[in-house]
Amino acid sequence: LVRLRQRLAGSQGTLGRGLLALLSRDRLDEDTWESIEDTLLTADIGVAPTTQLVERLRSRLRVEGQPADARAVLREELLELVDPTMDRRLQVSGADGKPGVVLVVGVNGAGKTTTVGKLARILVAEDRTVKLGAADTFRAAAVEQLATWGERVGVDVVRGPEGSDPASVAFEAVKQGVEEGVDTVLVDTAGRLQNKAGLMDELGKVKRVIEKQAPVTEVLLVLDATTGQNGMIQARVFSEIVDVTGIVLTKLDGSAKGGIVVAVQRELGVPVKLVGLGEGADDLAPFDAGAFVDALLG
Ligand code: GDP
Repeated sequence: LVRLRQRLAGSQGTLGRGLLALLSRDRLDEDTWESIEDTLLTADIGVAPTTQLVERLRSRLRVEGQPADARAVLREELLELVDPTMDRRLQVSGADGKPGVVLVVGVNGAGKTTTVGKLARILVAEDRTVKLGAADTFRAAAVEQLATWGERVGVDVVRGPEGSDPASVAFEAVKQGVEEGVDTVLVDTAGRLQNKAGLMDELGKVKRVIEKQAPVTEVLLVLDATTGQNGMIQARVFSEIVDVTGIVLTKLDGSAKGGIVVAVQRELGVPVKLVGLGEGADDLAPFDAGAFVDALLG
């Protein structure tokens, strides 16, 4: 969490400082409220949540007057937007002696393969047995990349011949997982968004064949936080294709504006469960709403 704060401090902290400066003005006139709105929109929070936050702040200040502690007021309201009540636990355990199956989806380049590798490492550190399925058979490099992660983390990677059917790789990975009694199978998938119908067929088939062996316990949608509102369009498409149960926001260490957390949760009604904070093996962390808001405020 300290790391999250440090990583976010660079770009996102300015959101908090900007808002606090505005809220601390002697007179909160219309121009100031507009500046507050602009600041929130620039941080990728999205139109509806921004409007909601500004409305709440305005009515609160009408009743309570100028806040003595603007930071505390802003923290409360931002936390409300991020929604600390959402259940962010990962469903990595199966039932009836079967493994938990985590399907990882998202467009190419979002950070799926990296996330699968990092997540495997976290699970192994928790003494779980893990198997990986390299079902992104479309890109040979993705399979190699996952194999490298497997070696690094010390877990088995199930892969097919180049260009093989993603569903058959996913099927085989879960089949072996069931037979060997592993705790969790993580399945990496391909994300060719150019062709929605094709992707829908492919992911649908992957999910169906897996479920012949064991229920999918978690569908993680990986989104690159630096793509801002464009990422929202991808998020919408994927949520129409599969029942997403959790979001992984990657590259929050880069130029991303943290407000995208609020926007995407709103859009999908699904919690951000993990955040990617770098390319290294340890750079994946559970999402913590309070720590996140503190990082936003700087
Ligand atoms: P995929 O195509 O969705 O499987 O994406 P990859 O896992 O291959 O990741 C694409 C690029 O993003 C790689 O260079 C990763 O190292 C990088 N990447 C993934 N997650 C993060 C992150 O949280 N922070 C940063 N800075 N880079 C990341």
